[in-house]
Amino acid sequence: MKKRKEIIAFDVDGVIFDSTEECLVIAWNAHQELIGKDEKISHPSEAKEDYDQKFRSIRNYVRSMDEYLVIFYGNISENPDQKDFEKCLDSIDDDLKKLYTKSFYNQRKEYKSRSYEQWIRLHYPYESILEILELCSKRKELFMVTGKDKGSVKDLLDYFASDVVVQEIYDKHAVENKLIALKKIALDCNVQHSEMKFIDDNVTHLFEPQKNEFNIALAEWGYAMPDHIMEAKKRNIPILSLNDLKNFIGL
Ligand SMILES: [Mg+2]
Repeated sequence: MKKRKEIIAFDVDGVIFDSTEECLVIAWNAHQELIGKDEKISHPSEAKEDYDQKFRSIRNYVRSMDEYLVIFYGNISENPDQKDFEKCLDSIDDDLKKLYTKSFYNQRKEYKSRSYEQWIRLHYPYESILEILELCSKRKELFMVTGKDKGSVKDLLDYFASDVVVQEIYDKHAVENKLIALKKIALDCNVQHSEMKFIDDNVTHLFEPQKNEFNIALAEWGYAMPDHIMEAKKRNIPILSLNDLKNFIGL
């Protein structure tokens, strides 16, 4: 029987694309929608300075769109860590989180339909990552497991890397969390967890996959926070630079 290709699963934001600017703009506009105001922005340069600063300080703690609410309703310090972030997040009402998630996707859709090219230009692929993905899609089986919506991931890949073949994209709508997505891929492809590799820049997304014996690594080239790097070291999670990535994947 022909041996199947090795499976590599990638997170998207902070691993393939720096989407900080896009998320900064959409998170602001979603809050405007939520509070019934119309002071929307199209570019980070239009954002208030303290918003820009707050946004960047919590960017990598955010696992799903509703968690951006911490910027607007949380009492966060200047240099928050994971603990501060969780505390703020807990204090925010769950119904508000649901409403905000809806507004976030509405606003992204609205922005894309208004100025698609400008939306694309708020994303920056990390240096050399697209070539690695292209190689990876030829020699391995490539999956995306992401908190970003599938449509946007497709749009970005079509624009920046149309030669890259992705087997499947699992987003927040498809599965509740990343572990479920990874398990589903393993089951569908009939491989052991330890035969699959998964790369994410948010260490909290790696805890459960590690317990479940997936071959995981933390990407440090995106917005990995210092306390996430420390946590990865403590838990023996490999920390990859872009230079290490090819090696880890086995390209
Ligand atoms: Mg990420």
